[in-house]
This record gives sequence, structure tokens and C-alpha cells, in this order.
Amino acid sequence: MIKIWPLLFGLIIPRRVRAIVLWPFIIIKRADDRGDRVLINHERIHVRQQLELLILPFYLLYVLMYLMGLMRGMSRHEAYMAIAFEREAYAHEADEEYLKDRKFWSWLKYRRELGQE
Ligand SMILES: [Zn+2]
Repeated sequence: MIKIWPLLFGLIIPRRVRAIVLWPFIIIKRADDRGDRVLINHERIHVRQQLELLILPFYLLYVLMYLMGLMRGMSRHEAYMAIAFEREAYAHEADEEYLKDRKFWSWLKYRRELGQE
């Protein structure tokens, strides 16, 4: 379910972020982004990741992976792009069929950089 909630962005969430998932809602900043199928599919992938991790562990792992990136000297953007959940979502956001055949915990395949230096 998509919610439009512009006030959240810029106050709590960085201004450049266009959407977030607070399960079960996809919250977008601008109403016209509702028609951005790639963006919405990206967020739907996060909805699935959250569900299969029973929600709260998703957020803990998300923050942990981000902090690990920063501790390795990555910029904030690099650390964000290194998060396994984001890597999976960016890799498949343009494929609207992706969630139909996606295997359980597929995000694990995208965490390879966490174990590498
Ligand atoms: Zn994302």
C-alpha cells in the first residue's frame, strides 16, 4: 500500500530520498512518484525483504551494513549502495516479474562485499 507523506522527508529522512518502506507501507514524498514503476518496484522488493526477516531485523541489519560500510572508509553514498538489501533492489528494480520467482532471502547473495576487504 502506497502512502504519500511529504513531511516525513527533510525532517527525519534525508531530503534526496524519494521513498521508504515502513512495513506494510511504501511511503513516497511526491504523489507523482506513484507512477514511477521502477521506484515502486524497488520499494516492493524492500517490502518482501522486510516481511521475510519479520520486519525489525531488517532495519537492524540495514543500519549495521550501512555502518560497516562507513567503518571501512566508504562515503555515505557508497555505504548505502553496499547494503545488501539495496544491492538486490537496485539490481532488479526494473524487472517487474522479479518478485514472482524470487527465492527466500535472496538478498544474502548480495552481501558478498561485507566479507571482503
Ligand atoms: Zn532501496
